[in-house]
Amino acid sequence: RVVVVGSANMDLVGLAPSLPRPGETVLGDDFVMTPGGKGANQAIAAALAGGETVFLGAIGSDAFGVTLNARLAAAGVGVDLVRTSYGSSGVAVIMVDRAGENSILVSPGANRSFVGLTDEESAAVAAADVLLCQQEIPMATVQAALRAGRAAGTRTILNAAPARVLPSGLLDEVDLLVVNETEARAITGGDDPDVKALLALVPRVVLTLSGNGSRYADRDGADVHVPAFRVEVADTTAAGDAFTGALAVAWGEGRDLIDAVRWANAAGAACVRRVGASNALPTRADIEALYSR
Ligand code: ADP
Repeated sequence: RVVVVGSANMDLVGLAPSLPRPGETVLGDDFVMTPGGKGANQAIAAALAGGETVFLGAIGSDAFGVTLNARLAAAGVGVDLVRTSYGSSGVAVIMVDRAGENSILVSPGANRSFVGLTDEESAAVAAADVLLCQQEIPMATVQAALRAGRAAGTRTILNAAPARVLPSGLLDEVDLLVVNETEARAITGGDDPDVKALLALVPRVVLTLSGNGSRYADRDGADVHVPAFRVEVADTTAAGDAFTGALAVAWGEGRDLIDAVRWANAAGAACVRRVGASNALPTRADIEALYSR
């Protein structure tokens, strides 16, 4: 089983001929509302990839919260322990112009109130095969979850996104770090992603390389480039979430990590073929079709 501890947002996406400047009102094109937040996206990705998945997070007492919960549950994610906190859900207000340029305002809402873990939440983490965390909730909660997982022998994965200052000792609780090149640089400093420097901090690293696939390295001496699956790209939004959710499932199923990364590459590639975010996340059948090709 995979337990995801993280954020849930409602993404409100408005398309427009141009982005409004301060003080300006622009008449827009289409509007779409989709569940988002890295936590919810990765939980949906894991469930669709065929993993038994539980989401631990906080939604607001508003209509968005109800919809978020329903969308997670519809994807097969266990939501029994999701907290409802009084006030608004996390919301991302996204404006996209016809050239694809965007402006994004994220209001964390209930995500900000997800502080510390209850006994029930800790027990769920302890009972999991794999714990998956990101960095869109208070970092003290991320650290508490990683500690609870580590103490219980649950494999811990940190997707260090978005890049943030890490509390000291946080990486000591991480079995597998998943980062893109920007996030890798944020952790090690320097101009190039330095996998050796990351391995001084965590035992296993996956570096995602967008259209070039990914790289897996560990302290036992593995350092392998795992090529991407070639597909026609429609929209790269949520590729990282598809990848990370699938990776957690594959590792939880006991696959060796290089094979798990290859399978996760198939999930990322299947995601970029479709337009959208959480609505573009692939099913297990989509992943298998690419993986076995
Ligand atoms: P993020 O969105 O977090 O920056 P990446 O862009 O590195 O993450 O994408 C995550 C994974 O998705 C990659 O490791 C790769 O396997 C897959 N992927 C992303 N873009 C493409 C692409 N253009 N073609 C094929 N696979 C892709």
